Amino acid sequence: MNIHEYQAKAILREFGAPVSRGVPVMKADEAEKAANELGGPLWVVKSQIHAGGRGKGKFKEASAGDKGGVRLAKSVQDVKDNVKQMLGATLVTVQTGPTGKQVNRLYIEEGSDIAKEFYLSMLVDRATSRIAFVVSTEGGMDIEKVAHDTPEKIVTFTVDPATGVQPHHGRRVAQALGLSGDLSKQAGSLVEKLYKAFVAKDMEMLEINPLIVTTDGKLKCLDAKISFDNNALYRHPDIAALRDETEEDAKELEASKYDLNYITLDGTIGCMVNGAGLAMATMDIIKLYGESPANFLDVGGGASREKVTAAFKIITADPNVKGILINIFGGIMKCDIIAEGVIAAVKEVGLKVPLVVRLEGTNVDLGKKIIATSGLNVIPADDLDDAAQKIVKAVKGHA
Ligand code: GDP
Ligand code: MG
Repeated sequence: MNIHEYQAKAILREFGAPVSRGVPVMKADEAEKAANELGGPLWVVKSQIHAGGRGKGKFKEASAGDKGGVRLAKSVQDVKDNVKQMLGATLVTVQTGPTGKQVNRLYIEEGSDIAKEFYLSMLVDRATSRIAFVVSTEGGMDIEKVAHDTPEKIVTFTVDPATGVQPHHGRRVAQALGLSGDLSKQAGSLVEKLYKAFVAKDMEMLEINPLIVTTDGKLKCLDAKISFDNNALYRHPDIAALRDETEEDAKELEASKYDLNYITLDGTIGCMVNGAGLAMATMDIIKLYGESPANFLDVGGGASREKVTAAFKIITADPNVKGILINIFGGIMKCDIIAEGVIAAVKEVGLKVPLVVRLEGTNVDLGKKIIATSGLNVIPADDLDDAAQKIVKAVKGHA
């Protein structure tokens, strides 16, 4: 689960990490009070969306001006004007895709005078089963580009969970960033606090880009992005409460209500499969025959008719879907239940694209019979290979 920058900074503050003072704003008329409270003389008005690259982003609406999603303001009036322009407008960044994201929340911060911008992130490194630190002097910009062009400028190390974070980790960060004296001490203290926060809140990733040195010699987290391990959310109700559903994929959100394992992809063939392994194999074979899956969907082992209906509706609601492949191996799951669910869903939402169904396993004959006598325009398939070829052919013919 991802959260907004202002929420991430509140967590960092709770653990004593240095962040600017700031006030989140949801309505334009809250801007003046927020700006006065912070006092100036410099403010930053920051779009709160679950995507990076906001500073270099562009709003779709001309009325929002062309200054990007992170703006410096030099007076209370300036803050108010920018809030009015940005709130409700759609911001497009390298991470949002061309449709962009509507900015429904802003964060107004006291402005900092920047001497240097660094990069610091932490993540769970699966290869070593440890928390890794990634630091670079090349902050503020695209870290992927730094990694590609000048990988020697990125320093990575992991922390042994048995000892936890040690003073030498702090010195390592200070050295990587070329910090000495008091700034080196600040780096040590920051590393300790971030590690503590990371473990305590079951984070999956924490990215500070940029981590800055202010002109008066203070280390500060100027941006913060945090994602949490969903499997640990049950023990952090305070974190779970930060979830902003408007930032999530509507289809994935709907799927989570029915306990379906669904992930949106960018292909054209909607897939409904039971079992993650079979779902992966189905996606692979679609690719093999020259098309791409529009989603990953595992309806699970013991799906009910309602669940199947919901899954089918989610798939058909996706305008990118040009054909649907249902591939079910009935073990615990019964093929007749799937067939009934599919028919109920088709009757409810209609079927505008070709549908190939491959059923195998428990009650397969009954399932096939239900589909065959339903009067629906379903293309039956005998096995996975046959099913994939049929749906790819149907989609190509349809296009
Ligand atoms: P991102 O573009 O989504 O990563 O948003 P950031 O929070 O990283 O802000 C983008 C850029 O705005 C930063 O890299 C800074 O250069 C600039 N910026 C943000 N806050 C301040 C500030 O307090 N003072 C100054 N001078 N620049 C800032
Ligand atoms: Mg940033």
